[in-house]
Amino acid sequence: MEIVSSVSEVRDRVKEWKREGLSVGLVPTMGYLHEGHGSLITAARGQNDKVVVSIFVNPMQFGPTEDLASYPRDLDKDSAFCKALGADLIFHPEPEEMYHEGFSSYVDMSVLTEELCGLSRPVHFRGVCTVVTKLFHIVTPDRAYFGEKDAQQLAVIKHMVDDLNMDIEIVGCPIVREEDGLAKSSRNTYLSDKEREAALVLSRSIQKAQELIDAGETSADVIVDAMTALINREPLAKIDYVKVVDALTMQQIKTIDRSALVAIAVYIGKTRLIDNLHVK
Ligand code: AMP
Repeated sequence: MEIVSSVSEVRDRVKEWKREGLSVGLVPTMGYLHEGHGSLITAARGQNDKVVVSIFVNPMQFGPTEDLASYPRDLDKDSAFCKALGADLIFHPEPEEMYHEGFSSYVDMSVLTEELCGLSRPVHFRGVCTVVTKLFHIVTPDRAYFGEKDAQQLAVIKHMVDDLNMDIEIVGCPIVREEDGLAKSSRNTYLSDKEREAALVLSRSIQKAQELIDAGETSADVIVDAMTALINREPLAKIDYVKVVDALTMQQIKTIDRSALVAIAVYIGKTRLIDNLHVK
């Protein structure tokens, strides 16, 4: 497995592969990898001849008050993790390699990005769409892998690829959880022991939604109210949003009568965590 930091090195390697007729899968990440990322790499390994993992903490998708500086990083550990899972190449650029001086072109999206995380993170999806488009142009993968943990991001990327005629198959992979239910996240490392315990309200409220839906409940209000009550019982938790949206458009719905997403964002102390349930 090779680790490269320049766009030209990635291009050279991918060109060689393509000359040999090999297929390429891309797993975009911000590093500090865990089994959630691992499931994407494993899926890519199973479906492509070559697997590229990008590790880039993308400044453009962080707001001015967010955790860009403190975001956890450990390239040595990430490299060993990728190697063990059979990745072929890690692309680990510095911000200057991705955004040269005078950079001024962006990929943006309306509608889908104006709900959920887009409300509390107004610059986030422009940063995501721009960096993912750049990665797609650099790596030119046949397939790219994204986690359902970031369900809005997955919907946005699928929509972008469709809108802009990008010839790349987007593969969504299920949420990987800790044994006690907490969705795995690089940001879980921010949590103190007390906060780690409190963070279980996210998966518990998702489980509550699942139980209500399994029992035949279709009212978004009833589901949201039950989840909100459960989360509010935890003193360390502060709700950003609890919503039921159309899974394709991300717009709020009153009744679950189509493919829907029950999505939550909750602060545990200063750490903002997300979780969701896709109702098919
Ligand atoms: P990140 O490094 O947080 O930007 O995540 C990179 C990719 O890994 C995104 O597509 C995420 O949705 C995915 N991912 C992160 N955590 C999980 C998880 N617990 N289960 C499945 N996919 C995940």
